[in-house]
Parts: sequence; C-alpha cells; structure tokens
Amino acid sequence: MGDPRGFLKIKRKTAGYRPVEERINDYSEVETQLPDDERMSQASRCMDCGVPFCHWACPVDNICPEWQDRLFRGDWDKAWALLESVNPFPEFTGRVCPALCEASCVLGFNDEPITIRQNEFAIIEKAFERGLVVPRPPKKRNSKKVAVVGAGPAGLSAAYFLNRFGFSVTVFEADRRVGGYLRYGIPDFKLDKSFIDRRIRLMEAEGIIFKTNTCIGRGRFGFGVDSTTASFIKAKDLERDFDLVLLTIGAREPRDVDIPGRENAGIVQALDFLSLQNRSLAGENNSGVEPIAVFGKRVVVIGGGDTGSDCVGTSNRHGAISVIQIEVLPKPPEHRPSEEPWPLWPKVLKTSSSHLEGGERLWSINTKAFIGENGKVTALKVCRVNWVQKDGKWIMTDIPGSDFEIRADLVLLAMGFTHIVQDGVARDLNLELDTRGNIRTRGSFHTSNPKVWAAGDARFGASLVVRAIADGKAAAEAIQRKLSTY
Ligand SMILES: Cc1cc2nc3c(=O)[nH]c(=O)nc-3n(C[C@H](O)[C@H](O)[C@H](O)COP(=O)(O)OP(=O)(O)OC[C@H]3O[C@@H](n4cnc5c(N)ncnc54)[C@H](O)[C@@H]3O)c2cc1C
Repeated sequence: MGDPRGFLKIKRKTAGYRPVEERINDYSEVETQLPDDERMSQASRCMDCGVPFCHWACPVDNICPEWQDRLFRGDWDKAWALLESVNPFPEFTGRVCPALCEASCVLGFNDEPITIRQNEFAIIEKAFERGLVVPRPPKKRNSKKVAVVGAGPAGLSAAYFLNRFGFSVTVFEADRRVGGYLRYGIPDFKLDKSFIDRRIRLMEAEGIIFKTNTCIGRGRFGFGVDSTTASFIKAKDLERDFDLVLLTIGAREPRDVDIPGRENAGIVQALDFLSLQNRSLAGENNSGVEPIAVFGKRVVVIGGGDTGSDCVGTSNRHGAISVIQIEVLPKPPEHRPSEEPWPLWPKVLKTSSSHLEGGERLWSINTKAFIGENGKVTALKVCRVNWVQKDGKWIMTDIPGSDFEIRADLVLLAMGFTHIVQDGVARDLNLELDTRGNIRTRGSFHTSNPKVWAAGDARFGASLVVRAIADGKAAAEAIQRKLSTY
C-alpha cells in the first residue's frame, strides 16, 4: 500500500460534468476527467482496509485495492493489467456503472468513498491511449463451436471469454449493430457509441464472428430490425449446428399501463424514444419510423429510475418546454437509511446529470388516467398515494381528494421491463420460464434444454451492465467446464 494515510490527507473529488448550458446543446458525454496527478491522489485514498468490501460488492470481483495502489504509484500499465484481469470492458462500467463498490467502500463507513468508478475509467482510457489494449486471439482453438444469441453486455462478455478459451464463437444479433442496451438504450451523453465500436473491432480481430441483422426465431423485434432485410434463422437449426447455444437476449418486454385514455397518441414507450435518438445520432436510416416530436412540448416521464432519467436528459436536449418525472414510490431518503447499513447497497435519492439539467420530480404519484383531445394526449389524471407497511409488505393506497391533473403533450413510459420477450426463440425451443417470465436456468446456466444455456437479463430480469458482464463471464467459464468434459 503506497500511502496508508492518504485518506486522512485527501478528500474525495469527483471530476464533475461539463457546464449545463454547454452540454444541454449536444449529445457528447457529460462527465469530465481529472488531471492525472489528481486522479493518482484520489487513488491514494484507498487505505488498505484489510477486508475490501468493494471487491465483495462488485459483480465482476474487481480487485480495486490492488489497482488503486498501482494507480497511486503512477504505474498505469500494471493498474490496467490488474483491472482487465477480471473485467473485460472497464470502458463501459467506468462510464455507466452505478458503482456498487463505492457504496461498500470501507472508507465510506464514516467518510466519503473512493472514486472507484472514475479511477477505473481513467485507467482503461489511459491503456487505450498507450496502445496497450490490443487483440489477443487464443493461442490454440479447440474443435467446439458456441453460438451466442444477443450482443448486449452479457453476450459480448460471454463471447470474449469463450473465444479466449479457444472456442469458435459466433454472435447472432437481431439489431443493426451490436451492443444491446449499451447502444440502443443508454444515451450517447452517458456512453459514446464509438467506445463500443472500438471494443468490437478488437473482438473481431481476436476471431469472434458477429452476425448482425440476424434474428434467431420469429419473435417480436423492435423497429431496429427491418424484416425485409434481416435474416431469420430457426432456433432448432442453431441447436443442430453448434455444440452449445447461449441465449443472452435481455429482458426486453416493457411494462405498460392499462388505464383509461391509454389509446391516445403521444404516449410512447421510453425505449422507442431513446433508441430512436441513438439511432439518429448514429446516422441510421429511420425512414418508416414515426418520429417522436419533443421540441416545444410538455413532457411527462412516468417512472423514476435510470431509464426515466435518460428520458429527462434526452427531452431537455430536444427542447421540451417542461419535463416532469413522476414516480409512484415515495421519495427515497438523502442518506443511507438504518435498515440498509453499510456495506449494503442503499436505496437513496439519486440525482443524475440529467436531473441537474432541468425538470421537476414528483414522488408518490399514481397515474389514474390519460386525458386526450382529438385522439392526442393532453394531460394525466393523477393522485397522491400513501405507502404503509403491513406484515412486512408495502401497501399503496390512494389519498382521497388528492387528485390533480398534469398537462402533457408527450408521455414517456419508463416503468421498467417485466421479462424476456416470450414469443420467439424461447418459445421456439420450448424453454421453461421462471415465475417472473424469464428463462429458467437450473443451478448453473443451462435451461430446460441441456444444449441451450442463458445468461444476463434474460435469466435474472432487467438489471445492470456490470451484472450482465459478470454473468456472461460466469456462463463462459461454466460452458468451458461443460464442453471440455465431452
Ligand atoms: C435506457 C436504459 C438505460 C440504462 N442505463 C444503465 C446504466 O446507466 N447503468 C447500468 O449498469 N445499466 C443500465 N441499464 C441496464 C443495462 O443496459 C442492461 O441491464 C444490460 O444491457 C443487459 O444486458 P444483456 O446483455 O443481458 O441484454 P441486452 O442489453 O438487452 O441485450 C440483448 C440483445 O439481444 C438481442 N436479441 C434479443 N432477441 C434476439 C434474437 N432472438 N435473435 C438475435 N438477437 C436477439 C437484442 O437485440 C439485444 O441486442 C439501462 C437500460 C436501459 C434500457
């Protein structure tokens, strides 16, 4: 440990964001970087705590203390080697991870935690800058072929490791380009898509084959899939042609509301809006897709989570005249509640860069109906709710007389995802689903069909990039164990 007293001398310093008045006019990444010397001194705050709970909390088992020490000493190359020994894509987690590690940092017990995520970001970008991140194809290939269906972070991570283990890997992706929600969900102002392309070029050079615009099964796909140009491959054919099929298809069925007025125009799923925005920025041809006009409109976002926050940031960039984000749950506490003590992940109020750019947030609001005129939404009928705990369960009740209306020209539904899109590959293969409607895996990653495995959101429901990466990695390791015994 370089400086065991660093945490006593140096306070946490985050890099912060570009000024609102500048960033609101573009879609470039909002987060800035500290100069190298400041970044290194931030790393010196890692205090050799003995039991690094950051490591325990991180789904990819990031060995933070080891690389923080190297970073503090200015040994960026070794810091990168340690970082990438467990995490295949630090450039993604370094940008978009909520940093479960920081909530568990021992220093965070009675001080501010180390800037683990931003330190990670700095290390990987320095490694790219120095030309350290180069293709490393396997020295020897085995005779086994694995098909990965879905090129989100889970599929990419599985493909990365399977390829390194020597398997011949083909990734089938229904959409035009790879990345899953990294590319067509998360806005460019959080993750510039050139960083996905940079990684894919490396993976291709390592020997992974990507087949985009290729749908496995005849399911419901988003508008990124043009059924006139896409190839459709039967799931059974894949099962026949490969030694193992890994499904990493995500949990992409959006939650909807079944309330009066839902049929009005101007009520749109958040993902339709966000993905169209990312496609436009990428210069994709979106002809035939109904544009979603936001300029000069009153936007209401239903859903207080990350997707909702991304809608707020994107709506502000489009020039909405007002943006209101409503959430049915109560406002979270600003500080860690006693029932979620350190080192657990606390459900506290999150204020994103998008929230700082404008808009209003309302909590404990239940939407009862949409009001429309001439078939177009003009307002939401809402009421306030009370939450009480009974027999360990939270129960919501409408507060009588608390009804009011919120004017809206555009409503974005950002209420999360219920489960996988069930008609398609899972149905074609007759796979068992779990009680939540995702692919049931048995003990490890194999489904009710022993030759078909599943990983990522597809098996545990909508979650996080870092969990998808970790699951893809664990699935690859399990597949290696399985196929090497044949
Ligand atoms: C708007 C938004 C913002 C988010 N922000 C964050 C964030 O800031 N931080 C964070 O950690 N997480 C965030 N998440 C969550 C995170 O993106 C997901 O948990 C993660 O992408 C899941 O990875 P996955 O690989 O399991 O699935 P996905 O990313 O959903 O990828 C699945 C892929 O499978 C493809 N596919 C599906 N069916 C087929 C088929 N039959 N044939 C071929 N291809 C198929 C899809 O086209 C897709 O590319 C966000 C999610 C959204 C929607």
